[in-house]
Amino acid sequence: MKKEEGILYIVATPIGNLKDITLRALEVLQEVNIIAAEDTRHTLKLLNHFKISKPLISYHRHNEDTKTEILINKLKQGENIALVSDAGTPGICDPGAEVIKEAIKEKIKIIPVPGACASIQALIGSGIDTSEFVFLGFLPTNKKNRKVKLEEISKTKKTIILYEAPHKIKETLIDLEKILEDRKIVIARELTKIHEEFIREDIHTLIEKAQDLKGEMVIIIEGSKKQEENIFEKMTIQEHYEYYEKQGLEKKEIIKKIAKDRNVPKNDIYKLFI
Ligand code: SAM
Repeated sequence: MKKEEGILYIVATPIGNLKDITLRALEVLQEVNIIAAEDTRHTLKLLNHFKISKPLISYHRHNEDTKTEILINKLKQGENIALVSDAGTPGICDPGAEVIKEAIKEKIKIIPVPGACASIQALIGSGIDTSEFVFLGFLPTNKKNRKVKLEEISKTKKTIILYEAPHKIKETLIDLEKILEDRKIVIARELTKIHEEFIREDIHTLIEKAQDLKGEMVIIIEGSKKQEENIFEKMTIQEHYEYYEKQGLEKKEIIKKIAKDRNVPKNDIYKLFI
């Protein structure tokens, strides 16, 4: 009889406060055959704290390819594996994506075990709109890619979530200052830890304070309130008409579109073109 395949559990761990481990995470870590960890020494401390003893396999950014194959083989042999990162949710700016992708290809069952994720804790505590948001991870350090991301931030109407390291926070805030105008910005620092704080100041004040900002931090930025430029406002009615005519539209359709673009009754436009 073919041995049943194992399950890949993606287990979130605390981002500072060990009390944030869930009962389910502890149960899964206790019951799996192997724990794949970003840094085995780091995870060992967590396991020791909760008196869990398990074989550990290291799985990090620099060995993801080779270790993915090993983990998939073990899963195929029926071993249950829990994947953890150093803190928070694996796969979110942490290793995990590769083995998850391969497991899906191999039709191996995946069970995410929810828990802490710095981005979500920061967002909900920031007071900035949570109805629509974009998570951009860390800003790229490559100049060109960074410019593209900053451009994206300057335009998006959705709340933005960024991760940043303390030694780069000043540089990032200076770049953001150039594009943010009067949008709100909040820094969520040391979440779940003793010195947890939400800093709700304008960007200029944040830059002044930047060198004193220590610890781990998330930046939450309000979406852009800029109205999209209405290109038709600068055209005469005739130019507006020709714009659509060149696209091959019929007179009736053009009139309907002009009325909509200019937010005026269709009849007013119709009268101009009879
Ligand atoms: N996988 C993690 C998660 O679920 O949030 C994120 C890992 S990423 C390598 C590390 C970044 O997450 C830090 O540089 C910081 O931006 C953010 N972060 C992690 N823990 C944090 C905390 N306690 N307070 C604020 N930000 C935190």
